[in-house]
Amino acid sequence: MNQNLFPLASNHPLRLADLLIRAAAIYSMAQDRTVYQAIAIRDEWIVAVSQDPHGLDGLISADTYVLDAPDLTLLPAFEDTHNHLIFAAQNMGLVPVDRAHTLAEFIDLIRQRAAQTPPGTWIQTSAAWHEVSLAEGRLPTAPELDEATPEHPVVVRRGGHVALTLGGITRDTPDPQGGTIMRFPDGTPTGVLIEAPAHAPVTELVPAMTLEQVVEGLRLVCREYNSYGIGTVRDPMVLRDQMLVYQALWEQGELTVRSRLMLAPLAATLAERMAIIEGFGVRSGFGDDLLKLWGLKFVLDGGAEGGALDEPYMNNPSYRGHLLWNPDDLLTLVNFAVRRGWKIGTHAIGDRAVRTLLDVYEQVIKENPGLKPGTLVLEHGFLANAEQRARAIQLGIPVTIQHPLLYTLGSVLLDGWGKERTREIMPVRAWLEEGAMLSAGTDHPVSSYNPLLSIWGMVTRGTLKAGIQGPEYAIDQYTTVQLYTVAGARLNNESHRRGTLEPHRLADLVAFRSNPITCPIDDLPSLRPAFTMVGGRALYDPEVMLGKPS
Ligand SMILES: [Zn+2]
Repeated sequence: MNQNLFPLASNHPLRLADLLIRAAAIYSMAQDRTVYQAIAIRDEWIVAVSQDPHGLDGLISADTYVLDAPDLTLLPAFEDTHNHLIFAAQNMGLVPVDRAHTLAEFIDLIRQRAAQTPPGTWIQTSAAWHEVSLAEGRLPTAPELDEATPEHPVVVRRGGHVALTLGGITRDTPDPQGGTIMRFPDGTPTGVLIEAPAHAPVTELVPAMTLEQVVEGLRLVCREYNSYGIGTVRDPMVLRDQMLVYQALWEQGELTVRSRLMLAPLAATLAERMAIIEGFGVRSGFGDDLLKLWGLKFVLDGGAEGGALDEPYMNNPSYRGHLLWNPDDLLTLVNFAVRRGWKIGTHAIGDRAVRTLLDVYEQVIKENPGLKPGTLVLEHGFLANAEQRARAIQLGIPVTIQHPLLYTLGSVLLDGWGKERTREIMPVRAWLEEGAMLSAGTDHPVSSYNPLLSIWGMVTRGTLKAGIQGPEYAIDQYTTVQLYTVAGARLNNESHRRGTLEPHRLADLVAFRSNPITCPIDDLPSLRPAFTMVGGRALYDPEVMLGKPS
Protein backbone atom coordinates (compact mmCIF):
# COMPACT_ATOMS: atom_id res chain seq x y z
CA MET A 1 0.00 0.00 0.00
CA ASN A 2 1.42 3.30 -1.05
CA GLN A 3 -0.81 5.58 0.91
CA ASN A 4 -2.89 5.05 3.98
CA LEU A 5 -5.27 7.76 5.16
CA PHE A 6 -6.68 8.18 8.60
CA PRO A 7 -10.41 8.95 8.25
CA LEU A 8 -11.00 12.65 8.84
CA ALA A 9 -13.29 13.60 11.67
CA SER A 10 -16.30 15.40 10.25
CA ASN A 11 -15.83 18.36 12.59
CA HIS A 12 -12.38 19.06 11.09
CA PRO A 13 -13.23 19.35 7.41
CA LEU A 14 -10.34 21.67 6.58
CA ARG A 15 -7.71 20.54 9.03
CA LEU A 16 -5.63 17.96 7.23
CA ALA A 17 -2.15 17.66 8.72
CA ASP A 18 -0.38 19.81 11.31
CA LEU A 19 2.98 18.52 10.20
CA LEU A 20 4.27 16.74 7.14
CA ILE A 21 7.82 15.37 7.07
CA ARG A 22 9.58 14.18 3.94
CA ALA A 23 12.69 12.17 4.83
CA ALA A 24 15.21 9.76 3.31
CA ALA A 25 13.88 6.77 5.25
CA ILE A 26 10.95 6.44 7.63
CA TYR A 27 11.14 2.97 9.11
CA SER A 28 7.66 1.76 10.02
CA MET A 29 9.18 -1.21 11.95
CA ALA A 30 5.90 -2.95 11.13
CA GLN A 31 5.80 -6.63 10.23
CA ASP A 32 6.04 -5.93 6.49
CA ARG A 33 9.20 -3.84 7.08
CA THR A 34 7.96 -1.03 4.84
CA VAL A 35 10.17 2.07 4.66
CA TYR A 36 8.29 5.27 3.85
CA GLN A 37 9.44 8.70 2.69
CA ALA A 38 6.60 10.89 3.91
CA ILE A 39 4.64 11.00 7.14
CA ALA A 40 1.74 13.25 8.19
CA ILE A 41 0.87 14.07 11.79
CA ARG A 42 -2.22 15.69 13.24
CA ASP A 43 -2.54 16.44 16.96
CA GLU A 44 -0.83 13.53 18.70
CA TRP A 45 -1.42 11.01 15.90
CA ILE A 46 0.22 9.75 12.76
CA VAL A 47 -2.52 10.14 10.14
CA ALA A 48 -0.82 9.00 6.94
CA VAL A 49 2.41 7.58 5.52
CA SER A 50 3.62 7.20 1.96
CA GLN A 51 6.52 5.61 0.11
CA ASP A 52 6.37 8.51 -2.33
CA PRO A 53 7.95 11.67 -0.83
CA HIS A 54 5.14 13.69 -2.41
CA GLY A 55 2.42 11.11 -1.85
CA LEU A 56 0.88 13.08 1.02
CA ASP A 57 1.00 16.53 -0.55
CA GLY A 58 -2.80 16.48 -0.76
CA LEU A 59 -2.88 16.78 3.06
CA ILE A 60 -1.07 20.11 3.04
CA SER A 61 -3.22 23.07 3.99
CA ALA A 62 -2.36 26.64 4.93
CA ASP A 63 -1.82 25.48 8.54
CA THR A 64 0.50 22.57 7.75
CA TYR A 65 4.16 22.85 8.66
CA VAL A 66 6.22 21.01 6.05
CA LEU A 67 9.72 19.74 6.86
CA ASP A 68 11.78 18.68 3.87
CA ALA A 69 14.65 16.66 5.31
CA PRO A 70 16.19 14.42 2.65
CA ASP A 71 19.09 13.60 5.00
CA LEU A 72 16.98 12.31 7.93
CA THR A 73 16.14 8.78 9.02
CA LEU A 74 13.04 8.42 11.22
CA LEU A 75 12.40 5.60 13.66
CA PRO A 76 9.70 5.05 16.28
CA ALA A 77 10.87 6.65 19.56
CA PHE A 78 12.80 4.18 21.72
CA GLU A 79 11.05 2.18 24.38
CA ASP A 80 13.29 1.10 27.29
CA THR A 81 11.49 -1.76 29.02
CA HIS A 82 13.63 -1.81 32.17
CA ASN A 83 14.70 1.66 33.25
CA HIS A 84 14.57 2.92 36.84
CA LEU A 85 13.29 6.37 35.93
CA ILE A 86 12.17 7.35 39.44
CA PHE A 87 15.53 6.26 40.86
CA ALA A 88 17.26 8.40 38.22
CA ALA A 89 15.01 11.31 39.25
CA GLN A 90 16.13 10.94 42.87
CA ASN A 91 19.75 10.99 41.77
CA MET A 92 19.26 14.21 39.84
CA GLY A 93 20.85 17.06 41.74
CA LEU A 94 23.18 14.78 43.70
CA VAL A 95 26.92 14.74 42.99
CA PRO A 96 27.23 13.08 39.53
CA VAL A 97 30.10 10.74 40.41
CA ASP A 98 29.24 8.53 37.44
CA ARG A 99 31.23 11.07 35.41
CA ALA A 100 34.49 10.23 37.22
CA HIS A 101 37.05 7.94 35.60
CA THR A 102 39.50 7.94 38.51
CA LEU A 103 39.27 8.26 42.28
CA ALA A 104 40.93 11.68 42.00
CA GLU A 105 38.13 12.88 39.71
CA PHE A 106 35.58 11.30 42.05
CA ILE A 107 36.98 13.16 45.09
CA ASP A 108 37.21 16.36 43.05
CA LEU A 109 33.50 16.25 42.14
CA ILE A 110 32.70 16.04 45.86
CA ARG A 111 35.15 18.88 46.58
CA GLN A 112 33.45 21.09 43.98
CA ARG A 113 30.04 20.43 45.50
CA ALA A 114 31.36 21.12 49.02
CA ALA A 115 32.64 24.51 47.86
CA GLN A 116 29.04 25.52 47.02
CA THR A 117 27.41 23.94 50.07
CA PRO A 118 27.09 25.45 53.58
CA PRO A 119 29.37 23.65 56.09
CA GLY A 120 27.57 20.97 58.08
CA THR A 121 25.12 20.20 55.26
CA TRP A 122 25.03 16.62 54.02
CA ILE A 123 26.59 15.98 50.63
CA GLN A 124 25.21 12.98 48.78
CA THR A 125 26.43 11.37 45.62
CA SER A 126 24.28 9.85 42.94
CA ALA A 127 23.88 6.09 43.44
CA ALA A 128 24.10 5.60 39.68
CA TRP A 129 27.71 4.48 39.43
CA HIS A 130 29.92 1.47 39.91
CA GLU A 131 33.57 1.34 40.96
CA VAL A 132 34.49 -0.78 37.91
CA SER A 133 34.22 2.47 35.95
CA LEU A 134 37.09 3.95 38.00
CA ALA A 135 40.67 3.24 36.94
CA GLU A 136 41.40 2.00 40.48
CA GLY A 137 38.38 -0.35 40.36
CA ARG A 138 37.54 0.18 44.04
CA LEU A 139 35.40 2.26 46.36
CA PRO A 140 36.91 5.40 47.90
CA THR A 141 37.77 5.29 51.61
CA ALA A 142 36.73 7.61 54.42
CA PRO A 143 40.21 9.24 54.64
CA GLU A 144 40.00 9.99 50.91
CA LEU A 145 36.60 11.61 51.36
CA ASP A 146 38.05 13.65 54.23
CA GLU A 147 40.45 15.14 51.71
CA ALA A 148 37.47 16.39 49.70
CA THR A 149 35.90 18.16 52.65
CA PRO A 150 36.49 18.11 56.37
CA GLU A 151 33.45 20.35 56.93
CA HIS A 152 30.58 18.33 55.45
CA PRO A 153 29.26 14.88 56.23
CA VAL A 154 29.45 12.94 52.98
CA VAL A 155 27.45 9.91 51.98
CA VAL A 156 28.51 8.00 48.90
CA ARG A 157 25.87 5.51 47.80
CA ARG A 158 26.41 2.81 45.28
CA GLY A 159 23.60 0.74 43.85
CA GLY A 160 20.95 -0.54 46.20
CA HIS A 161 23.12 -2.87 48.19
CA VAL A 162 26.40 -1.16 49.06
CA ALA A 163 26.98 2.22 50.65
CA LEU A 164 30.11 4.06 51.66
CA THR A 165 29.85 6.74 54.26
CA LEU A 166 31.80 8.98 56.49
CA GLY A 167 30.82 9.47 60.09
CA GLY A 168 29.30 7.87 63.13
CA ILE A 169 31.05 4.53 63.11
CA THR A 170 34.34 3.86 64.92
CA ARG A 171 36.80 0.99 65.26
CA ASP A 172 34.91 -0.07 68.39
CA THR A 173 31.61 -0.50 66.54
CA PRO A 174 30.96 -4.22 66.04
CA ASP A 175 29.55 -5.56 62.78
CA PRO A 176 25.75 -5.60 63.09
CA GLN A 177 23.68 -8.70 62.31
CA GLY A 178 23.35 -8.95 58.51
CA GLY A 179 25.80 -6.18 57.70
CA THR A 180 29.54 -5.62 57.39
CA ILE A 181 31.74 -2.67 58.36
CA MET A 182 34.81 -2.91 56.14
CA ARG A 183 38.07 -2.18 58.01
CA PHE A 184 41.71 -1.32 57.40
CA PRO A 185 44.22 -3.88 58.77
CA ASP A 186 44.39 -1.92 62.07
CA GLY A 187 40.62 -2.28 62.56
CA THR A 188 39.55 1.30 61.78
CA PRO A 189 36.55 1.43 59.43
CA THR A 190 37.43 2.15 55.81
CA GLY A 191 34.04 3.83 55.46
CA VAL A 192 32.53 1.04 53.40
CA LEU A 193 29.30 -0.20 54.98
CA ILE A 194 27.66 -3.18 53.36
CA GLU A 195 23.90 -3.81 53.51
CA ALA A 196 21.25 -1.86 55.40
CA PRO A 197 22.01 -3.01 58.97
CA ALA A 198 25.50 -1.55 58.61
CA HIS A 199 24.69 1.68 56.79
CA ALA A 200 21.28 2.53 58.27
CA PRO A 201 22.76 4.32 61.35
CA VAL A 202 24.34 6.79 58.92
CA THR A 203 21.92 6.88 55.99
CA GLU A 204 18.96 7.47 58.30
CA LEU A 205 20.55 10.81 59.26
CA VAL A 206 20.57 12.04 55.67
CA PRO A 207 17.64 14.39 55.04
CA ALA A 208 15.13 13.07 52.52
CA MET A 209 14.43 14.99 49.32
CA THR A 210 11.15 16.89 49.22
CA LEU A 211 8.38 15.87 46.82
CA GLU A 212 9.03 19.02 44.78
CA GLN A 213 12.73 18.19 44.46
CA VAL A 214 12.03 14.70 43.14
CA VAL A 215 9.33 16.00 40.76
CA GLU A 216 11.83 18.50 39.38
CA GLY A 217 14.43 15.71 39.10
CA LEU A 218 11.92 13.61 37.17
CA ARG A 219 11.17 16.50 34.82
CA LEU A 220 14.88 16.94 34.07
CA VAL A 221 15.52 13.23 33.57
CA CYS A 222 12.55 12.95 31.17
CA ARG A 223 13.95 15.79 29.06
CA GLU A 224 17.39 14.17 29.12
CA TYR A 225 15.90 10.86 27.95
CA ASN A 226 14.00 12.69 25.18
CA SER A 227 17.33 14.08 23.98
CA TYR A 228 18.47 10.47 23.43
CA GLY A 229 15.31 9.52 21.52
CA ILE A 230 13.52 7.77 24.39
CA GLY A 231 9.73 8.05 24.26
CA THR A 232 8.64 5.38 26.75
CA VAL A 233 10.13 3.57 29.73
CA ARG A 234 8.89 0.77 31.91
CA ASP A 235 10.00 1.64 35.45
CA PRO A 236 10.59 -1.66 37.23
CA MET A 237 10.62 -0.56 40.88
CA VAL A 238 8.18 2.08 42.06
CA LEU A 239 7.15 2.49 45.69
CA ARG A 240 3.66 3.64 46.55
CA ASP A 241 4.71 7.15 47.58
CA GLN A 242 6.63 7.59 44.34
CA MET A 243 3.32 7.38 42.44
CA LEU A 244 2.72 10.90 43.74
CA VAL A 245 5.87 12.11 41.99
CA TYR A 246 4.70 10.68 38.68
CA GLN A 247 1.20 12.03 39.13
CA ALA A 248 2.46 15.52 40.00
CA LEU A 249 4.56 15.75 36.85
CA TRP A 250 1.75 14.26 34.74
CA GLU A 251 -0.61 16.95 36.06
CA GLN A 252 1.86 19.63 35.05
CA GLY A 253 1.89 18.24 31.49
CA GLU A 254 5.62 17.67 31.87
CA LEU A 255 5.81 13.88 31.98
CA THR A 256 7.52 13.83 28.59
CA VAL A 257 8.51 10.16 28.73
CA ARG A 258 5.57 7.77 28.71
CA SER A 259 5.92 5.75 31.90
CA ARG A 260 4.77 2.22 32.60
CA LEU A 261 5.08 1.57 36.32
CA MET A 262 5.82 -1.61 38.20
CA LEU A 263 4.88 -1.25 41.85
CA ALA A 264 7.03 -3.03 44.41
CA PRO A 265 5.04 -4.31 47.40
CA LEU A 266 7.99 -4.34 49.79
CA ALA A 267 7.37 -5.71 53.28
CA ALA A 268 8.75 -8.25 55.73
CA THR A 269 5.97 -10.84 55.62
CA LEU A 270 3.74 -12.42 53.03
CA ALA A 271 0.61 -11.16 54.78
CA GLU A 272 1.95 -7.60 54.76
CA ARG A 273 2.77 -7.84 51.07
CA MET A 274 -0.74 -9.06 50.33
CA ALA A 275 -2.18 -6.18 52.33
CA ILE A 276 -0.06 -3.70 50.34
CA ILE A 277 -1.23 -5.18 47.02
CA GLU A 278 -4.84 -5.08 48.21
CA GLY A 279 -4.28 -1.49 49.37
CA PHE A 280 -3.21 -0.28 45.93
CA GLY A 281 -6.89 -0.45 45.01
CA VAL A 282 -6.10 -0.64 41.29
CA ARG A 283 -4.63 -3.21 38.93
CA SER A 284 -2.54 -3.53 35.76
CA GLY A 285 -3.64 -1.26 32.93
CA PHE A 286 -4.87 1.66 35.04
CA GLY A 287 -3.81 4.98 33.53
CA ASP A 288 -3.59 6.66 30.16
CA ASP A 289 -1.18 6.86 27.24
CA LEU A 290 1.31 8.88 29.32
CA LEU A 291 1.17 7.23 32.71
CA LYS A 292 0.00 3.69 33.24
CA LEU A 293 0.42 0.86 35.74
CA TRP A 294 2.15 -2.08 34.11
CA GLY A 295 2.14 -4.41 37.11
CA LEU A 296 4.09 -5.61 40.12
CA LYS A 297 7.79 -6.27 40.61
CA PHE A 298 9.44 -9.02 42.60
CA VAL A 299 13.15 -9.70 42.99
CA LEU A 300 14.15 -13.35 43.24
CA ASP A 301 17.94 -13.16 43.49
CA GLY A 302 20.86 -10.74 43.88
CA GLY A 303 22.80 -8.82 41.21
CA ALA A 304 26.14 -9.58 39.53
CA GLU A 305 27.60 -10.23 42.99
CA GLY A 306 24.63 -12.10 44.42
CA GLY A 307 22.80 -13.84 41.56
CA ALA A 308 21.73 -17.39 42.51
CA LEU A 309 23.91 -19.80 40.53
CA ASP A 310 23.82 -23.59 40.28
CA GLU A 311 27.61 -23.83 40.53
CA PRO A 312 29.79 -21.81 42.96
CA TYR A 313 31.25 -18.38 42.23
CA MET A 314 34.77 -18.47 40.76
CA ASN A 315 36.11 -16.10 43.43
CA ASN A 316 34.44 -17.93 46.32
CA PRO A 317 34.00 -21.72 46.07
CA SER A 318 31.64 -21.79 49.05
CA TYR A 319 29.25 -19.19 47.60
CA ARG A 320 26.46 -19.72 45.05
CA GLY A 321 24.65 -16.38 45.49
CA HIS A 322 21.29 -16.15 47.16
CA LEU A 323 17.60 -16.59 46.46
CA LEU A 324 15.68 -13.85 48.25
CA TRP A 325 12.41 -15.81 48.27
CA ASN A 326 11.18 -19.12 49.49
CA PRO A 327 9.68 -20.43 46.20
CA ASP A 328 6.43 -21.48 47.93
CA ASP A 329 5.93 -17.93 49.23
CA LEU A 330 6.57 -16.50 45.78
CA LEU A 331 4.05 -18.93 44.29
CA THR A 332 1.46 -17.89 46.88
CA LEU A 333 1.99 -14.20 46.22
CA VAL A 334 2.05 -14.44 42.40
CA ASN A 335 -1.18 -16.45 42.51
CA PHE A 336 -2.69 -13.86 44.83
CA ALA A 337 -1.69 -11.02 42.51
CA VAL A 338 -2.68 -12.48 39.13
CA ARG A 339 -6.13 -13.32 40.52
CA ARG A 340 -6.52 -9.61 41.26
CA GLY A 341 -5.62 -8.57 37.72
CA TRP A 342 -1.94 -7.85 38.18
CA LYS A 343 0.85 -8.60 35.75
CA ILE A 344 4.16 -9.60 37.34
CA GLY A 345 7.79 -9.03 36.37
CA THR A 346 10.37 -10.90 38.45
CA HIS A 347 14.09 -10.19 38.56
CA ALA A 348 16.05 -13.45 38.09
CA ILE A 349 19.60 -13.49 36.78
CA GLY A 350 21.44 -16.64 37.90
CA ASP A 351 20.61 -20.06 36.39
CA ARG A 352 19.31 -21.28 39.77
CA ALA A 353 16.99 -18.27 40.02
CA VAL A 354 15.77 -18.54 36.42
CA ARG A 355 14.93 -22.22 36.88
CA THR A 356 13.21 -21.56 40.21
CA LEU A 357 11.17 -18.73 38.69
CA LEU A 358 10.09 -20.84 35.71
CA ASP A 359 8.96 -23.54 38.17
CA VAL A 360 6.84 -20.96 40.01
CA TYR A 361 5.44 -19.41 36.82
CA GLU A 362 4.63 -22.83 35.34
CA GLN A 363 2.65 -23.71 38.45
CA VAL A 364 0.80 -20.36 38.39
CA ILE A 365 -0.16 -20.90 34.75
CA LYS A 366 -1.39 -24.39 35.62
CA GLU A 367 -3.46 -23.12 38.54
CA ASN A 368 -4.95 -20.19 36.61
CA PRO A 369 -6.29 -21.45 33.30
CA GLY A 370 -6.91 -18.67 30.81
CA LEU A 371 -4.12 -16.44 32.10
CA LYS A 372 -3.18 -14.13 29.21
CA PRO A 373 0.27 -14.70 27.66
CA GLY A 374 2.56 -11.88 28.78
CA THR A 375 1.07 -11.73 32.29
CA LEU A 376 4.26 -13.17 33.80
CA VAL A 377 7.61 -11.72 32.72
CA LEU A 378 11.21 -12.75 33.34
CA GLU A 379 13.38 -9.67 34.00
CA HIS A 380 17.05 -10.05 32.88
CA GLY A 381 17.26 -13.87 32.73
CA PHE A 382 21.06 -13.66 32.42
CA LEU A 383 21.67 -17.43 32.39
CA ALA A 384 19.09 -19.46 30.53
CA ASN A 385 20.24 -22.64 28.80
CA ALA A 386 18.40 -24.24 25.87
CA GLU A 387 16.10 -26.17 28.19
CA GLN A 388 15.09 -23.10 30.23
CA ARG A 389 14.65 -21.03 27.07
CA ALA A 390 12.34 -23.68 25.61
CA ARG A 391 10.29 -23.65 28.82
CA ALA A 392 9.93 -19.85 28.86
CA ILE A 393 8.91 -19.81 25.19
CA GLN A 394 6.45 -22.65 25.61
CA LEU A 395 4.89 -20.95 28.66
CA GLY A 396 4.56 -17.64 26.77
CA ILE A 397 6.82 -15.75 29.18
CA PRO A 398 8.42 -12.62 27.71
CA VAL A 399 11.98 -11.73 28.71
CA THR A 400 13.40 -8.23 29.13
CA ILE A 401 17.10 -8.01 28.32
CA GLN A 402 19.59 -5.24 29.09
CA HIS A 403 22.92 -5.48 27.31
CA PRO A 404 24.23 -2.40 29.18
CA LEU A 405 24.46 -4.54 32.33
CA LEU A 406 26.90 -6.88 30.61
CA TYR A 407 28.63 -3.81 29.17
CA THR A 408 29.18 -2.21 32.57
CA LEU A 409 29.51 -5.24 34.84
CA GLY A 410 31.37 -7.56 32.44
CA SER A 411 34.58 -7.52 34.47
CA VAL A 412 32.75 -8.10 37.78
CA LEU A 413 30.91 -11.01 36.16
CA LEU A 414 34.13 -12.48 34.79
CA ASP A 415 35.60 -12.47 38.31
CA GLY A 416 32.54 -13.96 39.95
CA TRP A 417 30.88 -16.10 37.28
CA GLY A 418 33.96 -16.93 35.20
CA LYS A 419 34.59 -17.01 31.47
CA GLU A 420 32.20 -19.80 30.51
CA ARG A 421 29.17 -18.36 32.25
CA THR A 422 29.85 -14.72 31.37
CA ARG A 423 29.87 -15.34 27.63
CA GLU A 424 26.50 -17.10 27.93
CA ILE A 425 24.81 -14.09 29.59
CA MET A 426 21.72 -12.89 27.71
CA PRO A 427 21.96 -15.19 24.64
CA VAL A 428 19.82 -12.81 22.58
CA ARG A 429 20.29 -14.44 19.19
CA ALA A 430 19.45 -17.91 20.50
CA TRP A 431 16.36 -16.60 22.28
CA LEU A 432 15.12 -14.91 19.10
CA GLU A 433 15.84 -17.83 16.77
CA GLU A 434 13.94 -20.10 19.14
CA GLY A 435 10.94 -17.76 19.13
CA ALA A 436 11.17 -15.84 22.43
CA MET A 437 9.36 -12.55 23.09
CA LEU A 438 12.27 -10.27 23.95
CA SER A 439 12.42 -6.54 24.46
CA ALA A 440 15.40 -4.32 25.17
CA GLY A 441 16.29 -1.93 27.95
CA THR A 442 19.16 -0.70 30.06
CA ASP A 443 18.54 -1.04 33.83
CA HIS A 444 19.69 2.57 34.20
CA PRO A 445 20.99 3.83 36.65
CA VAL A 446 22.97 0.62 37.04
CA SER A 447 24.20 1.32 33.50
CA SER A 448 23.87 4.00 30.83
CA TYR A 449 20.42 4.88 29.46
CA ASN A 450 21.82 5.71 26.00
CA PRO A 451 19.78 3.50 23.62
CA LEU A 452 22.43 3.76 20.90
CA LEU A 453 25.12 2.38 23.22
CA SER A 454 22.76 -0.46 24.10
CA ILE A 455 22.08 -1.11 20.41
CA TRP A 456 25.82 -1.12 19.70
CA GLY A 457 26.24 -3.66 22.52
CA MET A 458 23.63 -6.04 21.13
CA VAL A 459 25.20 -5.81 17.67
CA THR A 460 28.79 -6.37 18.90
CA ARG A 461 28.43 -8.09 22.31
CA GLY A 462 31.12 -5.58 23.32
CA THR A 463 31.69 -4.47 26.92
CA LEU A 464 33.45 -1.65 28.78
CA LYS A 465 36.31 -3.66 30.28
CA ALA A 466 35.69 -7.31 29.45
CA GLY A 467 36.10 -7.36 25.67
CA ILE A 468 33.62 -9.21 23.45
CA GLN A 469 31.45 -11.73 25.28
CA GLY A 470 29.62 -14.49 23.38
CA PRO A 471 29.83 -13.02 19.84
CA GLU A 472 27.60 -15.84 18.53
CA TYR A 473 24.69 -14.17 20.35
CA ALA A 474 25.03 -10.86 18.44
CA ILE A 475 22.11 -9.65 16.31
CA ASP A 476 21.85 -7.17 13.41
CA GLN A 477 21.03 -3.47 13.64
CA TYR A 478 17.47 -3.78 12.31
CA THR A 479 16.63 -6.44 14.89
CA THR A 480 18.06 -4.37 17.75
CA VAL A 481 15.86 -1.45 16.72
CA GLN A 482 12.87 -3.80 16.68
CA LEU A 483 13.68 -4.86 20.25
CA TYR A 484 13.81 -1.17 21.23
CA THR A 485 10.53 -0.14 19.56
CA VAL A 486 7.85 -2.55 18.38
CA ALA A 487 8.86 -5.25 20.90
CA GLY A 488 8.64 -2.80 23.81
CA ALA A 489 5.15 -1.71 22.80
CA ARG A 490 4.16 -5.37 22.58
CA LEU A 491 5.45 -6.07 26.11
CA ASN A 492 3.33 -3.16 27.30
CA ASN A 493 0.28 -4.50 25.37
CA GLU A 494 0.17 -1.27 23.39
CA SER A 495 1.04 -2.38 19.87
CA HIS A 496 -2.24 -0.82 18.70
CA ARG A 497 -1.08 2.60 20.02
CA ARG A 498 2.70 2.69 19.61
CA GLY A 499 5.87 0.98 18.49
CA THR A 500 5.47 1.43 14.73
CA LEU A 501 5.23 4.42 12.40
CA GLU A 502 1.84 3.78 10.83
CA PRO A 503 -1.53 5.56 10.71
CA HIS A 504 -3.58 5.26 13.91
CA ARG A 505 -0.41 5.22 16.01
CA LEU A 506 0.75 7.93 18.40
CA ALA A 507 3.32 10.24 16.81
CA ASP A 508 6.32 9.10 18.88
CA LEU A 509 9.39 9.31 16.70
CA VAL A 510 13.07 10.07 16.63
CA ALA A 511 15.11 11.46 13.74
CA PHE A 512 18.82 10.90 12.98
CA ARG A 513 21.19 12.38 10.44
CA SER A 514 22.95 9.00 10.14
CA ASN A 515 20.82 5.93 9.63
CA PRO A 516 21.21 3.80 12.80
CA ILE A 517 20.23 0.69 10.82
CA THR A 518 22.88 1.05 8.10
CA CYS A 519 25.63 3.23 9.60
CA PRO A 520 29.05 1.79 10.58
CA ILE A 521 28.53 -0.11 13.84
CA ASP A 522 31.09 1.84 15.83
CA ASP A 523 29.35 5.13 14.98
CA LEU A 524 26.31 4.02 16.98
CA PRO A 525 27.29 4.95 20.56
CA SER A 526 27.90 8.58 19.66
CA LEU A 527 24.85 9.11 17.39
CA ARG A 528 22.48 11.75 18.74
CA PRO A 529 18.97 12.50 17.51
CA ALA A 530 18.27 15.50 15.31
CA PHE A 531 14.91 15.68 17.08
CA THR A 532 12.55 13.61 19.22
CA MET A 533 8.76 13.84 19.21
CA VAL A 534 6.38 12.22 21.67
CA GLY A 535 2.65 12.38 20.99
CA GLY A 536 3.16 14.95 18.23
CA ARG A 537 5.04 17.23 20.63
CA ALA A 538 8.59 18.27 19.73
CA LEU A 539 10.42 17.59 23.01
CA TYR A 540 13.96 17.68 21.76
CA ASP A 541 14.57 19.85 18.74
CA PRO A 542 17.78 21.81 19.24
CA GLU A 543 17.77 23.19 15.69
CA VAL A 544 14.05 23.99 15.79
CA MET A 545 13.50 21.83 12.72
CA LEU A 546 9.88 21.25 13.65
CA GLY A 547 8.98 24.91 13.66
CA LYS A 548 7.35 25.50 17.00
CA PRO A 549 9.32 25.01 20.23
CA SER A 550 7.38 23.32 23.06
ZN1 LIG B 1 16.43 -3.24 37.50
